[in-house]
Amino acid sequence: MEDCIFCKIIKGDIPSKKVYEDDLVYCFLDINPHTDGDCLIVPKEHILDFHDASDELLIHINNVIKDLEIKYHLALKSDGLTIIHNSGVGQEVKHFHIHLIPRYELNDVALSAKRELKSIDEVYETIEKEFFN
Ligand code: AMP
Ligand code: ZN
Repeated sequence: MEDCIFCKIIKGDIPSKKVYEDDLVYCFLDINPHTDGDCLIVPKEHILDFHDASDELLIHINNVIKDLEIKYHLALKSDGLTIIHNSGVGQEVKHFHIHLIPRYELNDVALSAKRELKSIDEVYETIEKEFFN
């Protein structure tokens, strides 16, 4: 895709700090990190999100995550990961990617609601009605 920023990074047209690469994926540091080593796992094929990803690719990404967790633990002394995939309205760059955020201590990453939420009881009433009837 010509105007896709991640395709340009994969092609080398935009510089990036690579942490891992193979035939299927390119992984590089996020320019706006939540923690030290925060990176993106990006398939080389331009696809939108996990709905478009093959089982083969998803299994491969799972293995890349496990390998990077070990490397980060050894190199940066991280202790755990937070894994995020944004899609739909939550996705800024429309090329499938997984955020891999190394963790160093409890509560060093916050994901908080930015608008008022319904009560859990109200939400679950709808879920029960729609999912199980
Ligand atoms: P998302 O909201 O899941 O689409 O997140 C896109 C991510 O891409 C954000 O965390 C950005 O900081 C990151 N990003 C955008 N441009 C670049 C770039 N040139 N190099 C590294 N990361 C980038
Ligand atoms: Zn792309």
